Amino acid sequence: MKFKRVLLKISGEALMGDKPYGISTEVIKFVSQEIQALHNLKIELALVIGAGNIFRGVAGAASGMDRSSADNMGMLGTVMNSLAVQDGLENLDIPTKVMSAITMLNVCETYERLKALDYLENKQVVIFAAGTGNPYFTTDTAAVLRALEIKADVIMKATRVDGVYDRDPEKDPNAVRYHTLTFSTVLRDDLRIMDAAGISLARDNNLPIFVFDMTKPGNIVKAVMGEDVGTLITN
Ligand code: UDP
Repeated sequence: MKFKRVLLKISGEALMGDKPYGISTEVIKFVSQEIQALHNLKIELALVIGAGNIFRGVAGAASGMDRSSADNMGMLGTVMNSLAVQDGLENLDIPTKVMSAITMLNVCETYERLKALDYLENKQVVIFAAGTGNPYFTTDTAAVLRALEIKADVIMKATRVDGVYDRDPEKDPNAVRYHTLTFSTVLRDDLRIMDAAGISLARDNNLPIFVFDMTKPGNIVKAVMGEDVGTLITN
């Protein structure tokens, strides 16, 4: 096994499936089954889920809302997605904790690093909800922050493409996939894998990011085993 403790970042949009908005039950089932395979391998797994399928602060601000209020709405969206994935995992008998950066004790626990570490050591899945708890950030940055806090070996960034390409592979059939990349190249060439704040934080703290296609069944296990099914970004 190449990685023992993994932080998986899933965008909100990935949960929509074919729908224009919201959460697809089929996708929740699929994601839960993929995670079950990792859980069976005794991988310690934490998740950060975005909210692009529900609400993004920048969109709210563009239509005239106060940015901080809009971002708070975005963070609440991540809690909804986290509860949906928790439900999917619990249906497969995988013990799962949601820990929110914004306290809402009737709904889920509040994030506490040491408690999260205990859960992970006991092979419970932990979902970090509400991003960093601060406006003007994204769940990409939250994923890097939490991965550093729990000393994850890697961030696995789930996308619809099997890694990072030199050109858009959906438009150009000659596009070539990078097997590895450096953070400096990602920032210099403005390769939009994650927002720049998250990439910088990962670079400064030497945290590898693996970009892979989670829509292919079995890929997540291959990625954790170290197979070449995506792009590994390191210093
Ligand atoms: N958000 C925030 N602070 C954070 C994380 C997220 O304010 O630390 C808000 C922000 O409005 C963002 C929304 O939550 O647009 C959803 O997160 P994101 O855009 O990262 O979701 P994704 O693109 O991964 O679906």
